[in-house]
Order: sequence, then structure tokens, then C-alpha cells
Amino acid sequence: MKRLFIILFALMLVLSGCGWEVEIVDPTEETQKTENSESEISVSELEEIPENDSSPWYRNLSEHWQTDERLEKINIGGHEFKNGTCSVCRTEMEDLGDSIVLSDYSGDSKLLRKTTYNPDGSLTNDMNYKYDTDGNLVFESSEERFCTKDGSHYLTRITEFYYFSEIKQVHELNAFGDMLSSKSYNFGDELLSTYDYSYEYGENNLVEYQKTLFNGNPYMEIFFEIKEENGEFRSWKKRSIVYYDDGSRMESEFDENEDVISEIIYDAQGNIIE
Ligand SMILES: [Zn+2]
Repeated sequence: MKRLFIILFALMLVLSGCGWEVEIVDPTEETQKTENSESEISVSELEEIPENDSSPWYRNLSEHWQTDERLEKINIGGHEFKNGTCSVCRTEMEDLGDSIVLSDYSGDSKLLRKTTYNPDGSLTNDMNYKYDTDGNLVFESSEERFCTKDGSHYLTRITEFYYFSEIKQVHELNAFGDMLSSKSYNFGDELLSTYDYSYEYGENNLVEYQKTLFNGNPYMEIFFEIKEENGEFRSWKKRSIVYYDDGSRMESEFDENEDVISEIIYDAQGNIIE
């Protein structure tokens, strides 16, 4: 069962791009807490709880659902709010007038996820929280979405807080979902490092060229080839150049499986040294 949960979670991460809104409200802890308070039952007994009773709930603004083994949605239903809490998936709703906020909590009342919507239902912010086994907050992320008037919206900024190392990372994305910049700060908001990315797009908005700067200096260039295969376009990395601090660089060529064909290292004057 735990393995299923992990697979689901991984899939949800993959699917959690624009247009998808997925959520895990894990009722397992709540079930355990409730049952424990009534009668002391062992972990092995808990594992015998039928799958349906413990599989996680997913939700968007209006509906909740679970998934079967093939990850098809089952038990889809509209939220049934009573005193601001859905009696089925346990999500909590607050209507603030200019925004609607849904929040999910663990069985021990720790905030797991908080999503904010425009009154028209479009998602504007998705915050997620992770805790260690002692209940300390170890990770927090905030995904901000930009909403256009025609209703389309895309992820524009991700802010991540790593509490263990006291590092904050801010990633800015473009409308294609590609990273524009990635900045690291300490918790005093002092900038530690910056990666900047720029792109050139080819057919079907696939990346043909990507340039990366690290702290303003050349870091990497990647040249992609776009090819059509069975009616679908895909891009593959054909060539890359990695720049080193001493002015030297490594140029690599790749085959269509992105396996390295050749690697040549040049010194700062452009002479081949390896
Ligand atoms: Zn619900």
C-alpha cells in the first residue's frame, strides 16, 4: 500500500504541470489517530485496512477523488462543506471575497497544502509543506501562477525553502514552463548564486538552443535537434559546450540517444588540450 502511495505521488508530481491540479490528502494518519484513540491497535492491524479506506484523496477547487490501481479517477464527487470542512476529503475552505483558499492538514493538524484561487476558479498559488518524523517543518514550496484574461494560466515562479540548510531558492519560469532564472539566498535574503537561462525555440515550441549563465558568466550552451517521429516532434541534445573558470571549455557531441560521441577540451586560447 505504501508503495502504491509512492507511485501515485511520483505520478502526481509528473502530472502537476499547468492545467493539472493534483493533491494528496492522506487520510491514513487521521485514520490511525482516530482508531488509536479508541483502541490501541498495532501497525500490522492498520495494514489490513482495505485499500479503499486508506487511499489518498486528491482534489481541486470543486471536486475530490481517489484513484484505482490504474490511476483512473474513482469516487469523484463535489466537496461537501460543513462548517468550512469537506466531510469527505477533509479539505478546509475559506472564501475571502477576492480569493478562495483551500487548506489540507495532516492527522496531527500540520498544514500540508494551501491553494489559492481567483473567484473565477483559476489557481494562483499552490503551497506545499513537508515535515520530518519529529514534526519539524523541513521544506516549503510556493508555486505562483500567472493568469491571463482568456483564462489560461501558467506557472511563473517557484519559491522553495529548505529549512534544514536555511537556503531559499527562487525559480522564475516562462510560459513554456522553461526556467528563466534560479537564484539561491540564505535566510537573511542575501543572494548566494544565480543561474540565468535563455532559449531559442523551433518547431512546436521545442527548445533548439539553451544558454546558461552562472553568476553572470558563461556556464553552458546546449544545441538541440528537433525531429519528427511517428507524427510527434521531439528534441534531442546534439552538442553542448561547458565553460570552466580558467577559460577552458569542453565541447561534446551526442547521438540521438544523447550518448556522448566525442568530447574535446580547449584551453582559454582555443587550443585542443585533450
Ligand atoms: Zn472534498
